[in-house]
Amino acid sequence: LQRLFGPITQLSGMQELAQTVVVSFSRVFELLDLKPLIQERPDAIALKKKVVPDVEFEHVSFRYPTADEVSLASLEHLRAERERSEVTPDVLRDVSFHAQAGTLTALVGPSGAGKSTITHLVSRLYDPNGGTVRLGGHDLRDLTFESLREAVGVVSQDAYLFHDTIRENLLYARPTATEDELMEACKGAQIRDLIDSLPLGLDTVTGDRGYRMSGGEKQRLAIARLLLKEPSIVVLDEATAHLDSESEAAVQRALKTALHGRTSLVIAHRLSTIREADQILVIDGGRVRERGTHDELLAQGGLYAELYHTQFANPAANDPKPEIEDEL
Ligand code: ATP
Repeated sequence: LQRLFGPITQLSGMQELAQTVVVSFSRVFELLDLKPLIQERPDAIALKKKVVPDVEFEHVSFRYPTADEVSLASLEHLRAERERSEVTPDVLRDVSFHAQAGTLTALVGPSGAGKSTITHLVSRLYDPNGGTVRLGGHDLRDLTFESLREAVGVVSQDAYLFHDTIRENLLYARPTATEDELMEACKGAQIRDLIDSLPLGLDTVTGDRGYRMSGGEKQRLAIARLLLKEPSIVVLDEATAHLDSESEAAVQRALKTALHGRTSLVIAHRLSTIREADQILVIDGGRVRERGTHDELLAQGGLYAELYHTQFANPAANDPKPEIEDEL
């Protein structure tokens, strides 16, 4: 009897296996059909070139997507599953501000307050969960990716260099740049002297296996890229770590050129930048707690005044290089 039923049992087992394989394949094809969380609308419009736009946040709230949301974003029938999955906390809550065209807005506040997240939304790395982010009066979600990429220039704390020549690293920002334009940008970014001193000049190979640039040199090269790209909006995470005082002063001069005439949002760590800002936004717990100029906020005697007295006014307490008077 066993000899008779054995193969039949095996056959039904195989059918089960086959069904599992078919179901698994259909899941694979569903996953291949994934769409990214951020998408361009079919009727998206291009931001006007050569016009410096203002930046506006209107009642913006945001939380980072969970891993499930990233991978299951476009699978309608799995949305319910997503609802049940763990929800991340709100990182921005009802954030509203207006950065007028051509002005400098400094973002200050404690670590984890949401400053970087605000800058991520300006370059549309994510869409807000509530409220609207506008550039030049347009909801970011209505703009083409290309015009947004052209309009927004980002300088982060760690400038990335390709293992290639300095020239190629610069051309990445403007592929059609002439030799004169490259050198002009290097001059504005305070890195021309260094390049002139290298035997191969712009053809020096940089990166981990080539000429290793110092932190300050890397930052200035990133600023030269910014000058070549000519974005109308600059998002900058001002870094002070690992810079000697000479580099520090050179980076400061380079930034002055780079930010001029553009709408800038700077996560500011230097008192000199904060003092020059047209407005300071004090971010804490994902909210804008205070706004105003340096003098106005000091006079208010609130969180900014506290930050100023504990950190900004006493750089020696936070910085191993007390000789740089205006560094945080
Ligand atoms: P810092 O000055 O330390 O850089 P910050 O003010 O820029 O801080 P954000 O980096 O915007 O703060 O972080 C705000 C909150 O969001 C923090 O609680 C942080 O842990 C969280 N967060 C940041 N990035 C992510 C991410 N990719 N996924 C999930 N949570 C994140």
